[in-house]
Amino acid sequence: MNLILLGAPGAGKGTQGALLAERRGLRRISTGDLLRDAVRKGTPLGQQAKGYMDAGELVPDSIILGLVREVITGDAEARGFIFDGFPRTLPQAEGLDRLLEELGNPLDAVVVIDVPDDQLVKRLSGRRTCPNCGAVYNIYFEPPETPGVCDACGGALVERADDAAETVRRRLEVYRERTEPLIAYYERSETPVRYVDGDRPVEEVQREIVRVLES
Ligand code: AMP
Repeated sequence: MNLILLGAPGAGKGTQGALLAERRGLRRISTGDLLRDAVRKGTPLGQQAKGYMDAGELVPDSIILGLVREVITGDAEARGFIFDGFPRTLPQAEGLDRLLEELGNPLDAVVVIDVPDDQLVKRLSGRRTCPNCGAVYNIYFEPPETPGVCDACGGALVERADDAAETVRRRLEVYRERTEPLIAYYERSETPVRYVDGDRPVEEVQREIVRVLES
């Protein structure tokens, strides 16, 4: 099964995608994670991408499509892919269609996760992560016991550079302008589009995703 999780930054695509991938034995492809990894390692890709990411802008389509092609074609064993944060533009969606057609492996569904804007801003600007063990907190919804310190390992929590308030506003604007129109693109295609209310606890949203995929 190949699936796209579509939704604004902070809608929970990463959390839901990771759960679903684990439970269904699918491979989750998060272009954001792949890019952050490249930035951390200082690879040529990371050096190209960093400026766009820090500004809340999109990394050019050709770079993203090359990256996704490399990952998909390098994982012939996968039972299917969950695309998280990709595609984000029309050329990316068209590129994915071509790639999946080449592989004879069509798209099965697009799941749109919907969360109101005020919640998105709180989720993103409140997000803190532990670089040591990967734990994720939110200063509004799930604060650590001691501010700034990871409950699990005692590491110092950090804020993602692109979660700063100004960049968050830009990322949401970019989503509305460039990515939201993809909903209409998929509605016109043969791939079913399903809608999920993402403004609920993680497990409830997960159950709803499983339900809409089975319907
Ligand atoms: P994310 O973790 O999905 O919110 O992505 C973080 C940042 O990485 C975005 O704000 C973009 O700068 C970049 N990025 C991730 N995925 C894409 C994509 N599919 N197309 C363009 N830029 C992307």
